[in-house]
Amino acid sequence: MPRPYQFCSDCGAPEPRPVTAREFRCDRCGFRHFITPVPAAVALILDSEDRLLVIRRAHEPGLGKLGLPGGVIEPEETGEMGAARETLEETGLKVPVEAFSYFTTLNNRYLFQGFEWPTIDLFYLARAQSFDGVQIDASEVSEWMAVPLTDVALHDFAFGSNAEAVRRLQVRNAAR
Ligand SMILES: [Zn+2]
Repeated sequence: MPRPYQFCSDCGAPEPRPVTAREFRCDRCGFRHFITPVPAAVALILDSEDRLLVIRRAHEPGLGKLGLPGGVIEPEETGEMGAARETLEETGLKVPVEAFSYFTTLNNRYLFQGFEWPTIDLFYLARAQSFDGVQIDASEVSEWMAVPLTDVALHDFAFGSNAEAVRRLQVRNAAR
């Protein structure tokens, strides 16, 4: 696996030494670097007819593949706040923070600056009156779709975590 740190981020010495699979220590100053999961919020939004808001990704990783609105949670945000913000930024859809409820958590890896960082994807479920007013951010999203939940093509997702979350939602809704 490629190393996430080419230099010590404290003193600049080259190649912090791997101590374990997730700890890298600088031999010069002792600074310890850890690989820890990055929390990300992902939105599962259904309309009144149980159609899921699905996007097509406009950039790597996963360019051209399906996705869900979501991204890294920012400082001072809760997961629900992150889900609402990412939904607004990527799709223009205003879903109140209070409308999101926790659904499930899945592990993922995300290629960023040459390293596949582990993320912990937190999925939040919300119900929207409709998808009227969706206006995608073309730098992030090339297309949006309202897909009947039972018809979502799981194999077209960029990330296995997204496909698995949608599958769990399909199972849950089918059991109702
Ligand atoms: Zn150092």
